[in-house]
Amino acid sequence: MIPVAEPDLSGNELKYVSECVETEWVSSLGKYVGAFEEAMAARCGRRYAVSVCNGTAALHLALVVLGIGPGDEVIVPSLTFVATANAVRYTGATPVFVDAEPRYWQLDPERLETLITPRTKAVIPVDLYGHPVDMDAVEKVARRYGLAIIEDAAEAHGARYKGRPCGGLGDMSCFSFYGNKVITTGEGGMILTDDPQWYERARFLRDHAMSATERYYHPEIGFNYRLTNIQAALGLAQVERIDEFIAGKRRHAQQYAARLSGVPGITLAPEAEWAFNVYWMYSILVGEAYPLTRDELMAALRQRGIDTRPFFRAIHTLPPYVGDHALPVAEDLAARGINLPSATKLTDEQIDYICDQIIELGAKAG
Ligand SMILES: *Cc1c(COP(=O)(O)O)cnc(C)c1O
Repeated sequence: MIPVAEPDLSGNELKYVSECVETEWVSSLGKYVGAFEEAMAARCGRRYAVSVCNGTAALHLALVVLGIGPGDEVIVPSLTFVATANAVRYTGATPVFVDAEPRYWQLDPERLETLITPRTKAVIPVDLYGHPVDMDAVEKVARRYGLAIIEDAAEAHGARYKGRPCGGLGDMSCFSFYGNKVITTGEGGMILTDDPQWYERARFLRDHAMSATERYYHPEIGFNYRLTNIQAALGLAQVERIDEFIAGKRRHAQQYAARLSGVPGITLAPEAEWAFNVYWMYSILVGEAYPLTRDELMAALRQRGIDTRPFFRAIHTLPPYVGDHALPVAEDLAARGINLPSATKLTDEQIDYICDQIIELGAKAG
């Protein structure tokens, strides 16, 4: 089976992790934690980075640092991984869902303003599937209403918006380093910001809100959201190779696009003229002109040894979040989108094989 995602751990990963074991620095103290944070901050053009145990914790902690809690509203896209909305719920605040736009599949900045109420405190734009969100358009609205912006860059390590790195946009940015992300620490996450107070507060709350000067004095309730030195060792080795991974993903995307363009009913992954897409997951939409439905195509590919994923469910249609508003673009994309195999390790031959199957299935059934 050709997998959808697969990490590449063939650089310094084993060496750095072995060093953690040999030196017994296996917990959350140790040199790799700081080194990994510094490497990520430098890549994103940020002053500060705070590593945490996963991407969901990064989003939760960023919201807590901003003081968001019960009674507040936070605007999030409906078409994203559920963690973006769950993190809002953990604080007691209410996620308010915004529709997607059909061109680049990102949240639609033109719809933001209609959702703002006196309770709205923040917006979490997501760089979905490796493509940046139109951040200038989001900022224009956010600034007018005094909303904080938390960029969810969990799927967009190395992507760029108008030349600026994702992870460096908005007031705070969050990454995930889950196993299928552009770079991985197994499980892991990070918050980036330029604000020294938010940075200090995030570090404080990450470590049970322990006083920096008085051990076991905890003036408030914090969390254990720390990343381990072993995870950070993996992360540092991964950052060293991120340009290679991105080049691989973009080369695969080019090959997919060249082979699949012109297949009736197949819409290719977009890239805005202002975007540098890292194609975290190379994605297509299946339209009516294609003879199989999205789910039929996925099943047929699976029979031919190709694993795929459907797009995320639109969150406003999931049981904990179901509401009375239709968000037609998010629902349509969610129903028609497929993530094709996107591991950097894939060979040109494997991608050709995948494209052959999509073309053949499209011709046959028609
Ligand atoms: C992966 C992901 C997260 C959550 O990250 P975890 O590390 O799995 O907690 C959050 N937002 C988006 C958009 C993601 O893709």
